[in-house]
Parts: sequence; structure tokens; C-alpha cells
Amino acid sequence: MSADLQFTVEPNTKPASDDQRASILANPGFGQNFSDHMAIATWTKEQGWHDARITAFGPLELSPATAVFHYAQSIFEGMKAYRHPDDSIHAFRPEANARRFNRSAQRLALPELPEEAFLDAVRRVVTIDKDWVPAGGESSLYLRPVMFGSDPYLGVRPSAQVTFLVMASPAGSYFPNGVKPVRIWLSEEYTRAAPGGTGAAKAAGNYAASLVAQAEAVEQGCDQVAFLDAIERKWLEELGGMNLYFVLDDNSVVTPELSGTILEGITRDSILKLVTDLGHTVTERKISIDEWRDGAASGRIREVFACGTAAVITPVASLKWHGGEVQVGDGEAGPVTAAVRTALLDVQYGRAADTHNWMTRI
Ligand code: PMP
Repeated sequence: MSADLQFTVEPNTKPASDDQRASILANPGFGQNFSDHMAIATWTKEQGWHDARITAFGPLELSPATAVFHYAQSIFEGMKAYRHPDDSIHAFRPEANARRFNRSAQRLALPELPEEAFLDAVRRVVTIDKDWVPAGGESSLYLRPVMFGSDPYLGVRPSAQVTFLVMASPAGSYFPNGVKPVRIWLSEEYTRAAPGGTGAAKAAGNYAASLVAQAEAVEQGCDQVAFLDAIERKWLEELGGMNLYFVLDDNSVVTPELSGTILEGITRDSILKLVTDLGHTVTERKISIDEWRDGAASGRIREVFACGTAAVITPVASLKWHGGEVQVGDGEAGPVTAAVRTALLDVQYGRAADTHNWMTRI
């Protein structure tokens, strides 16, 4: 039951061979290969959380009437486990993901999952599949917890049955050929989230709603899309899957404040502390799109970078919109971006002291 959900272990009887795994780990890419096991648990109104298992990763059998297919009652998380030089394996701030998962659950009328159960599921999947944690470069084992309404019922109501899963997917370096600054497309037609909506939750539907804007960005020759607030269409919120930071000409750092409509990135939160450690003042405040356009043109804004679990820190080369484009700095990764990136990766990969106690040994 919920109070102390215990995951029983049913080992995969047909795991990948050593050769298959080695060939995947030699070139893991992102999100396309999965480790041998997953965690799964069920919640019902009557029983709470129960039937928690570590079992073979594989297809689910679901009724076509399953609630999530129709009403998108689904949330997820994204986090990573890293292999350190001494071969020990560590997760980065997993308790922050557990807390955000529950904030998302609350917004989507999904049941709370005890943080301990979330952390235990993650720990057990990584432990049983520790050979799937890649070594070298900026590779990691990407972990994807998800929770969705699994009741086979077409009525619109909070699902009376819910499934929790954790899957694991080896991930290679995001920038295998060296860090490449990205071009950002400003979405003026679409918004991502409105006050009172689900923008601050890691809800599946937010991503569905962002895809057409992301496709427009790609059509425009850009890599990522930036969204503005839904009311004034003036204030910068975030990218489709990353938060934003700006480095000004006095070496101070600013990032859009938590508006209730942006996702509270765990990388964003970590960078608030890292840039302070590096001697910068950092401010969370409203940043208008004109401040970006004018500041990049005048040199007041020296560097812009995006941050998130998947790509860590990505320098921004330029901002493009219908009718114009402005380059940031010289279009290359600036020194503050590079220093923050190194500082964060050094903690995650065990090359620097973990002064903020961010790493959890698995
Ligand atoms: N914003 C959005 C919309 C995201 O999907 C993500 C990725 N989870 C982020 C920001 C960055 O969050 P984090 O640093 O926790 O990965």
C-alpha cells in the first residue's frame, strides 16, 4: 500500500546480450534504446498504490478506451544517472524531480506518489540495469518516470486507475561534435501556457501543444522555439523544453522569473546557485522580448543560453522572428556560458566537489 510501496523484482528472462548492449552503448543517441527493465506500479481509488514491480521493459496492453489516450491525463519527468571515474553511479537531484512530479500530479488530478517510492523505483531500475549506464564523454542513462490515467473508461473525470512507470534509456553526448550554438525562433502566433493552465506542470499535453510551433521553428531554419506570455505577448517565458538565461555587459546574469506558466527547471535552479558560486549576481525577473532584441543589438546582452536536463547548457547564437534576426555576441558560446556548463558537468560527472549535495549515489 501507499505508505511503504515495495517493488518486487522480476528479472528480465530475455535481457539484451552483452554484444547487443555494447553496440547500443557505443552509439546510444537519445531516447531510442531502452534498458532491460522498468518499474511499474498501479493506483486505484480502492487500493491506493499497489502491485509495484521491477520487470522486463516491454509493451503494455491497454484498452483503446484508456483514459490517457483521450484526455491526456499524463505527466512525466526527465532526469539522468551518471557514471563517475571510479565507476560509481550517481543521480542528479532526484528528490527535486520527485517533488516536481507530485506538483505536476496535483495539477493533472493524478494521485500523489510518495517521494520515497519515486526514488526507490529510480534507484532499483538503475541498480538492476547499471551496465546500461554509458561511460565516457557526456553520456548518461536518461530516466523517464511517467504517470497516466489507465482506466478503460470514456467518461471525463480523474482516472480511477493510474499507472506509474520508470524506464531508462542510454543517452550519448548531446553535442558529439562539440557544443554548437542554436538559432531560436520566436513564436508570435502560438503560446505555450496561460495563467491558470498547466504550464508549470510537466504535463504531456504541453508538449503536444508546442509541436506545431517547434515545426515552424525548423521550417524557419531554427533549432528551438521561444514562447512569450499568453496575455501581453511581451514577456519571455521559455523554450519548448528548456529555460533561458542572459548574461549582461556588467557580467550580471538574469533569467525569467517563475511566472506560474513556465516549468521550474531543475537545471535552471542549479544554475542560480552555480553562477553565484562563480561570482556573478543573478536576478530572476521579467524579461521582455524587446529587451532581448535591443540588448543583443546594442551589446547590453553579451550571452544567452538555454538549460535543461537533456542538453545541459546550450549557447544561443541568434533570435529570429517574422521580419528579422539578431545575433547574440559573436554567435559563439561566450565565456560565462562555457564556465557554467563546465561547472555543472564537473559536478554531474564527479570531477568537482559536490558542494551543494546534488548527487545521490545509486
Ligand atoms: N522547460 C520545459 C518546458 C521543459 O520540458 C524542461 C525539461 N524538463 C525544462 C524547461 C528544463 O527542466 P530541467 O532542467 O528540469 O530538465
